[in-house]
Amino acid sequence: MTREKMISRLKTKINEKRMEHSLGVEYTAACMAMVHGADIEKARIAGLLHDCAKGLPTKEKLEKARKHGLAVSKYEEKNPDMLHAKLGAFYARYKYDVTDEEILDAICYHTTGRPNMSLLEKIIFVADYIEPNRKTLKEMDIIRKEAFDDLDKCVIHILKNTIDYLETSMNEMDYMTQMTYNYYVNK
Ligand code: FE
Ligand code: FE
Repeated sequence: MTREKMISRLKTKINEKRMEHSLGVEYTAACMAMVHGADIEKARIAGLLHDCAKGLPTKEKLEKARKHGLAVSKYEEKNPDMLHAKLGAFYARYKYDVTDEEILDAICYHTTGRPNMSLLEKIIFVADYIEPNRKTLKEMDIIRKEAFDDLDKCVIHILKNTIDYLETSMNEMDYMTQMTYNYYVNK
């Protein structure tokens, strides 16, 4: 599917702000791919489509995930919005004709990361956090620099801030986020 077709389909699924964010992740991921020697085209597609399922109402995310036979964890059952990543990979495959497993994995793990991520997975995980339309989170200037000079350090930094934030806000956390953090800290 051409990029133009992906964009026109995406526009019917997510709002304008989310569209702007998706384009931001697309070009940020492309720049990161240039620096780190990843496939630029793959980075663009994964970035553009990573939130393609985010526009579904919360309840529908759970229903669709079950309907399509995706594994739903206890945490996701309570926080169905987290399913937009897995569901996004599903829609990328069946609605946007993406067959590349690397792209699909990068979409699937963009929110929590996972231990032993591929280069593309790390790029999408980070680009989602740092793209220019994002509101400036804690230590964003440092994190944005790290994204281009030390990708693993950047991944750890983002996970650390996310975990700290979830702890102070008393929000529950997906165990995968903690697992990813432990993996990269001990690597
Ligand atoms: Fe997302
Ligand atoms: Fe996103």
